[in-house]
Formats: sequence, structure tokens, C-alpha cells
Amino acid sequence: MMGGHHAATGAAAWVAVTSTAPFAFGWYEGVSDTGVLAGALVCAGAALLPDADHHSGTIANALSPVSNWVVKVVETVSGGHRKGTHSILGVVVFTAIAWLLSFVRVDTGIEGIGTVQVGPGILCVLLVAFALKALKITRDTKILPWTTSVVLAALIAVFAPEEWFWMPFCVALGCVVHNLGDFITTNGVPWFWPLKFRSPRWARDGKGIIELTSFWKRNGSLAMPILGNAGSVREWIFLIPVSLYAVVGIVWALLSQMGYYPQGFWNQVFGIA
Ligand SMILES: [Zn+2]
Repeated sequence: MMGGHHAATGAAAWVAVTSTAPFAFGWYEGVSDTGVLAGALVCAGAALLPDADHHSGTIANALSPVSNWVVKVVETVSGGHRKGTHSILGVVVFTAIAWLLSFVRVDTGIEGIGTVQVGPGILCVLLVAFALKALKITRDTKILPWTTSVVLAALIAVFAPEEWFWMPFCVALGCVVHNLGDFITTNGVPWFWPLKFRSPRWARDGKGIIELTSFWKRNGSLAMPILGNAGSVREWIFLIPVSLYAVVGIVWALLSQMGYYPQGFWNQVFGIA
């Protein structure tokens, strides 16, 4: 799946889980409108994290030079493109890092500011920069990605510091959605990395009972290739309703945040009380 598409599915997943699902299924309402808004952008960025395993990928230059260093480390540790980061273990590790970062905070002792969540703030800057880059909001300029993502992270830190509790969950969701997105394209993902279950020969040569080669690859990756190749027409068509849903959900949360509570059907869908 393409970068921008990963970002859109990440934002849509966040809107679904934090604003639609609590209404539809009666889950607790733990995330505020600010959380829906900010989280949608952070989750869009988190949905690009698994592709930080590739030094020439789009997001490597999203926040130069820091993003280049991050990608270099991830690429080395995860064994290269579409390996460790595209597995269950990869999701667990990314989530654990986000969780550990939530303990990195500084008590300023200043009244009105109090404790500053440094760890989640830094992660937010990086993920927002990924999202802006993949959605083509920032181009290759050096300054704009930094200013936009730092300002956004600072705004959340100052106006809604209590929002950061959802950061590890947001990272987990983004990574899962990314891997599901790649799972439904031709190449698939190695869910069980570093374990490698190569497909048996009979599943590949067409001489067995069924030909499994589209679903179970020689390199051990699994796929449910309903979208075909990454960037296919099918992928673009699939992304139209997904992106629309994300955009409307974000606009709805923004309206609610501004104190506008529209009544009717869409409230039920996008979770305004
Ligand atoms: Zn990927």
C-alpha cells in the first residue's frame, strides 16, 4: 500500500475506534474531541512506522536529519524492508517503545505548566512529520516539517497534556492497520517474523490440490491480496470511502471541539454527545 494510503487508513482507524465505536458499541468514552483530532494525525503517522525500515522510503526524509537516523536504526534492527517491522513482534516492539517513552517527563515546577510529557511529545513530533510528509502536506523543505510538527506537538502538550495517555494505543493501532494494509496487497507481510514458515513446494508449483502461492509466499509472507499490487486502481477505489470517513470524522470532532453540537444521524456515526 502507498504511504499516503497508509496514513489515511491510520487516521480512519483512529476515528473509528475513538469516536464511532464508543457510540456504536457502547464502549467507554475515554478520548475527548481533542484526542480524536490529535490522535487522528498521530495515528496517521504511526501507520507509516512499519515502513521506517527502508532508508530510501518517503518518510526517511520527513524530518531530516532525525528521521534518517531513526530509519537507519529501524532498518538495521528489523533486518530490512518488510521484515521485522511488518510482523506481530514489530507491532509489540513499537508499542513498547511508545509505552516506555510515556515515562519520560520533566516536572518544571512552574505553576500552570507543571509536568511536561517529553517522551510522548518527541514521538508526536516525529509521527506528525511522517503523516504530513506522506499526505504531501510538507514537501522536501527542511524547515516546514519541523515547525509544523513541533508547533502541533506543543499545542497538544500545552492545551491538552492529559491527552497523551492514549499514545501507546495509538502507535499499536497505527502499526496494526499498516500491516493489515500490506497484508491485503500482493506482497503480503511476514506476520511471524523472525520465524519463517516457507510455503511447501506443492503449494507453489500448481501440482498440489490447491495453489496457495498468492496467499503463502516462498519467503514465508502471508497475503490476502484483495487489492492486488500496491498502488493499484483497486487500492485507490478502496481508499476513497476510507479517506472520506476520516475527513468527515475529523471535521466532526473539530466542530464539537468548537462547541457546535449538530443533531441527527451523523452524530451517531461520529460520536458527538
Ligand atoms: Zn509496509
